[in-house]
Amino acid sequence: MMQIFDTMQNRLVDLETRDPNHVSIYACGPTVYDVPHLGHARTALTYDLLKRFLMWSGYTVTLASNITDIDDKIIERSAREGISENELSSTYTKIYIDQLREFGVADPDFRPLATEYVEEMLAIITQLFEQGAAYEIEGHGVYFDVDSLADYGALAGRTVNELRESAQARVASEEDKQDPLDFALWKSAKPGEPTWDSPWGPGRPGWHIECVAMSLHLLGDGFDIHGGGSDLAFPHHENERAESEASGHSFARYWMHSAMLNVNGEKMGKSLGNFRTLGDALAQYGPRPLRLAMLQAHYRSLMELSDETMKGAIGGIERIDAFFRRMLGADIQETSIDTEAKDRFMSAMNNDLGSPDAIAVVFETINSGNAALDDKNIKEASMALTTVSELLEVLGLSKDTVDSDEEIDSLVSEREAARASRDFAAADRIRDILKDRNIEIEDTPNGPLWRKI
Ligand SMILES: [Zn+2]
Repeated sequence: MMQIFDTMQNRLVDLETRDPNHVSIYACGPTVYDVPHLGHARTALTYDLLKRFLMWSGYTVTLASNITDIDDKIIERSAREGISENELSSTYTKIYIDQLREFGVADPDFRPLATEYVEEMLAIITQLFEQGAAYEIEGHGVYFDVDSLADYGALAGRTVNELRESAQARVASEEDKQDPLDFALWKSAKPGEPTWDSPWGPGRPGWHIECVAMSLHLLGDGFDIHGGGSDLAFPHHENERAESEASGHSFARYWMHSAMLNVNGEKMGKSLGNFRTLGDALAQYGPRPLRLAMLQAHYRSLMELSDETMKGAIGGIERIDAFFRRMLGADIQETSIDTEAKDRFMSAMNNDLGSPDAIAVVFETINSGNAALDDKNIKEASMALTTVSELLEVLGLSKDTVDSDEEIDSLVSEREAARASRDFAAADRIRDILKDRNIEIEDTPNGPLWRKI
């Protein structure tokens, strides 16, 4: 059985699903006012990997991941650029979707837009009023009363008083709010802003109610996993949970949070000036090395993405592709999976999505496959090939077509033959020919590997 780290219980727990053999997951998506950065990519990758692995393990999975298409930042930027909020958000939604696809992140089963769920949001706010958990301030909007939920702060692992102290220290509370921790469910219309009608006058939804409405509508009460980046745990997720529970809907059974990302030693963020976008990284390194680099860090650990990390990941992808080229060149066919390697991969992934250990199993299998081929052990080599193909598919790292170039392959074979007959002059000549074509050969204990340089 899979174990995941549940933020709410602050420990590893068995994944016991609401429905047998089905897992429902809601992962918070981006607010679309700019191009995606690497943190967005890491978050999306985490839930893509979770879904792939669960499906491979025999579950059916429903993954919903939203787009927040109305927000202060969207309103500000579209005003600055003199375009409509809708124009701005659809431009960046398209870029987000296109780049995630390029990155190899599969589309979720549902990608709801917040603005399409206003009716559902209003219904939940109405329920919160009925439960005495909401109050209205004329001219400001509707607020959630944190005192209405006995365990507000449980997800953050803090008491209401602790949270209240830091909230008071952080921001001067809005004039009429009953408590600095109370937060907006519905914001009254301001001039020039997009608005929707509501029983409390025209306005627009608060951020947290959007995700509550979308997740409950698409996945139902008591859905299995709520995920997102760790920066969303408080207050966004705490407040989502509060709204759902206080309105009478049981919310997520488990909470998963993927950690943040440092780029070349600095915290990922626009303000620091080292902002590197997903688009930049894809153009610079390609999707597979970027994906491998991210998967080689556990999703809950702060990731350091540096030129050094990327160099290692590019080398890793080359080793994978060289393995396939070599197996293809030797006409090795896929047969059956190596159950021992499969079991080790599975237990790594069952342990809170342990992708670094799972990837290590893949590279060990590549090494043993190469060694088997050296020994002309076709059966072992076939098994390794089958295993590597299948496991890479789970990680989303497989490639539809492996780079193959018969001419280069035959030059490499000629050079091998020359070396075998100790004709080193001929071998060096062929190496130079390859070098002129930007092909570098590396002689390894498992035979030569070539790569484009
Ligand atoms: Zn959310």
